[in-house]
Amino acid sequence: MEPLPPLREVIARHGLSASKALGQNFLFDEQLLDRIAAIPGDLSGRQVLEIGPGPGGLTRALLRAGALVTAIEMDRRCLPALAELEHAFSGHLTVVEGDALKLDHDALMAGEPYAVVANLPYNVGTELFTRWLSGEDWPPRWTSLTLMFQEEVARRIVAAPGTSAYGRLSVLAQWRSTARLAMKVHRSAFTPPPKVMSAIVHIEPAAMPEGVSARLLSRATEHAFGQRRKMLRQSLKGLPGAVDALEALGIDPQRRAETLSVEEFVSLARSLSESQPKA
Ligand code: SAM
Repeated sequence: MEPLPPLREVIARHGLSASKALGQNFLFDEQLLDRIAAIPGDLSGRQVLEIGPGPGGLTRALLRAGALVTAIEMDRRCLPALAELEHAFSGHLTVVEGDALKLDHDALMAGEPYAVVANLPYNVGTELFTRWLSGEDWPPRWTSLTLMFQEEVARRIVAAPGTSAYGRLSVLAQWRSTARLAMKVHRSAFTPPPKVMSAIVHIEPAAMPEGVSARLLSRATEHAFGQRRKMLRQSLKGLPGAVDALEALGIDPQRRAETLSVEEFVSLARSLSESQPKA
């Protein structure tokens, strides 16, 4: 295979100035990109869904690791640069133009299991994260999520109860998955550098507790942490049966959401699931 031109040259040739509106901060350091691509483990011959490839730095690293990559990018300006990579790694890369929030990822991956790798703007990343972790079907088709976030968001995802970072994202990431902070990435590694530090979290599905509706668990966390300074008696008022369920479980409704363990949220969701009329 012909050696690939340096990323900076590709960007200059295609006029890919980073768009603030699309949350574009590009990574060029190939060693760093290879370390990121190694986080999900051996990718050789594995299907990977990359979201937001931009000019293709991380995509190259995934391809170097032997992955079969499907990449969704919504910025049309990046497509010619990605087409060059598709050509260089013929049969190993498929680029899909579109908004990852609007596409059916499982359908795109033709029902095969796949690892997700993404470096996305904050709002898109958290929206997708919530969707990936709130699905009713478990285990999901994705086998792992390797996601770049602002460090503060990454810390929330892996936070333990009782800490100020613990919240809805922590419970969603931990009740039937394992979540770890895999790597910190200094802001200076990006072009242009963002205002804050970044970090990568790696999530893998685990066994799902029995008798719990994912939808009810998601709603319980939404209510409880929606007013995190309030007692649960107040914050869970809008969720029918929740305050009674707390009392039946022996959980003091005067407590606040951040003091509840992940297991206590699971117990609450299970009680709510049991009291729902069966369809
Ligand atoms: N992966 C590249 C890297 O690490 O250098 C680029 C990362 S840049 C932070 C985020 C990329 O996500 C941009 O290329 C942007 O156009 C793309 N993007 C933003 N929102 C998107 C969406 N909803 N669907 C697909 N791609 C999106």
